[in-house]
Amino acid sequence: MKTTKRSIVGVLTGLSVLVATGCTDQTSTQQPGSGEAAGNKSNTGEVNLYSSRHYDTDDELYNKFTEETGIKVNLIEAQADKLTERIKSEGANSPADVLITVDIGNLWRAQQEGILQPLESPTLESAVPENLRSSEGYWYGLSKRARIIVYNKDKVKPEELSTYEALAGPEWKGRVCVRSSNNIYNQSLVAEKINTKGVAETETWAKGLVNNFARQPEGNDVGQIKAVAEGQCDVALVNSYYIARIRSSDQPENQAVASKIGVFFPNQKEGEGGTHINISGGGVAANAPHKENAVKFLEYLITPEAQEIFANGNNEFPIVTGVEPNPTVASFGKFKESQLNIAASGEKNAEAVKLMDRAGWK
Ligand code: FE
Repeated sequence: MKTTKRSIVGVLTGLSVLVATGCTDQTSTQQPGSGEAAGNKSNTGEVNLYSSRHYDTDDELYNKFTEETGIKVNLIEAQADKLTERIKSEGANSPADVLITVDIGNLWRAQQEGILQPLESPTLESAVPENLRSSEGYWYGLSKRARIIVYNKDKVKPEELSTYEALAGPEWKGRVCVRSSNNIYNQSLVAEKINTKGVAETETWAKGLVNNFARQPEGNDVGQIKAVAEGQCDVALVNSYYIARIRSSDQPENQAVASKIGVFFPNQKEGEGGTHINISGGGVAANAPHKENAVKFLEYLITPEAQEIFANGNNEFPIVTGVEPNPTVASFGKFKESQLNIAASGEKNAEAVKLMDRAGWK
């Protein structure tokens, strides 16, 4: 089937709906120009990017890419599951060239839905660590985030902290805040534990953790950090960039939160497996009309220049060695990352969801 200009308009019309319902942060859209049909399978000097990231700094990156290559970036933003559904329903007519999303759980689901195609790129393969990309090239990690412990400095000494596993111990009864099991970040952490410890041990741990909850799971990662600062709980599990965002904010209310909290990287000792790492990543859409441009775009994202903007814009860890995180992120200190192949956490996602349900993790 041939895609016409109408299908692009259809997608972009759909975008305004998706943005209105799916995305609360700032969004921006560049309209495809020059009246070229994205679906005519020819290189028209543009790339249609479907992204669930919604950070102003990413716009700077798209503009730089256009400056350097002449390829225009047409951006569609929505939540990952909405983008996946949309690409799937667009089928062979989909104008999508690149899908970028966060968390291996989302990338894995996109791969399973058949909306990505395998890409062999020596450039990406050499820059992105083997454990943080699909072995078949369906998706490549583009930046890293760590799921870490945030603690209330008045109530917890860092030497009382050690591992994710230890938070299930009796001394943490009524002291732990974690967001809902619907959240993909926690699902991926549990999936990693299933891979390293097996179902039975992970379930025992999850039950112990649930037993220690200070309250029923509610709110997002920022909500957990604030709850720790306010003393509703003593520790919480959150993604690293949220803490960096609060620490680098000049808003007095964020500074007040930042002054109360400490950051701890769990599982640092020999044999503890390292801190859980996740990725923001992307792949080429299965029916990409501008595949060549899609590849150029993904390869651009792992250049040192792009890594600084892409990763640091959201306070993430660059995925390419030799590019340093921003000063706020760097101030957390060096730590040992889990070296597990991240695809394994995608594979165990469904099992993790069931396990959390059995453990009573709401
Ligand atoms: Fe997030």
